[in-house]
Amino acid sequence: MPYKAISDLGEFGLIDRISSLVGPTLDASPNLLTGIGDDCAVYQPTAGMLEVTTTDLLVEKVHFDLLTTPLKHLGSKSISVNVSDICAMNATPQYALIGIAVPPSFSVEMIEELYKGMSHAARIYGVAIAGGDTSVSRSGLFISVTMTGEVSGERLTRRSGAKPGEMICVTGTLGGAAAGLRLLMREKNIMLEHIEHHEPYNKSLMVDLEEYADAIKEQLLPAARIDIIRFFHSRNINPTAMIDISDGLSSDLRHLCNSSGTGAVIHEGRIPVHSGARRIADELRDDALGWSLTGGEDYQLLFTLPKERFPDIAEHDDISIIGEITEKDAGISLVDIYGMSIDLEKLPGYDHFRS
Ligand code: ADP
Ligand code: MG
Repeated sequence: MPYKAISDLGEFGLIDRISSLVGPTLDASPNLLTGIGDDCAVYQPTAGMLEVTTTDLLVEKVHFDLLTTPLKHLGSKSISVNVSDICAMNATPQYALIGIAVPPSFSVEMIEELYKGMSHAARIYGVAIAGGDTSVSRSGLFISVTMTGEVSGERLTRRSGAKPGEMICVTGTLGGAAAGLRLLMREKNIMLEHIEHHEPYNKSLMVDLEEYADAIKEQLLPAARIDIIRFFHSRNINPTAMIDISDGLSSDLRHLCNSSGTGAVIHEGRIPVHSGARRIADELRDDALGWSLTGGEDYQLLFTLPKERFPDIAEHDDISIIGEITEKDAGISLVDIYGMSIDLEKLPGYDHFRS
């Protein structure tokens, strides 16, 4: 069956297709009074709650490479990265607006794949896709997702509330997404070399990616830690400060400390490095701890709590205590396994305009 060109369907035909794909995300949203189909989405905010809003722009060749990224995964990731920001405020995600700019070469089926991924992820997080905007693009695919969430005033968690003496905690494992990216890039280069030398693309020359599935999944299909937010709410745990780890532990810890006006000390031996990343680093002669500190895209939560709250989180097997907030003068440092102190303020994070 030939693929359908978007030009055959037109903008409104495409929006109709999109609308039927996101429809199921609306089921659990009785407070959404009008979704796709009017000039604005309309929703009834919950009385007494604060609204939080975030937006993330994903640009082809900057944030993703369509040679190594299935569109369905990309759709899912574009939702997850926004949910992660909402979770980082200790809030519950609610509605998403989606802007896309699509190259004319794309088929209708490609956009459907993208929206299947978005819709699937949105349902998992309880987010309703309530509208968006559609344009043609003359230079690659653009995906802009804007998301709202709600949180009570008491639970709202900024980056700025950490105090000296508090525990620094991190969820899940780190470095997996960076390891997955390295592998995908390696495979892409092998593929491009084949094309360049006009050799038939020979699958048997490619490594079996199955054994690296864990790390590749962290890169292509990150999961926002809404489970942790639900855990906090069920136990009445309110972190004093929180941020999601999108740029790397080192850089995001720095953001949290700068906002809070504090320093920090973390311990190498306590950093939960992704086990797949360790294996891949051995193979590629790279450094999994480095990926954990500066690799980014892990979408875990970094938060602080007073030490008295230790029993509340001790039983959770996916939260690690990696260090302590200090006075600002002490700086931000990592104590390595030999007891040497490394200044984290000198480690670069991921910066689009620099790298
Ligand atoms: P307007 O011209 O008023 O901006 P549009 O024709 O762009 O309206 O959009 C019509 C409806 O479809 C609106 O409700 C809008 O929110 C929704 N919509 C448009 N593009 C998208 C998209 N890419 N994803 C989800 N909803 C969309
Ligand atoms: Mg529009």
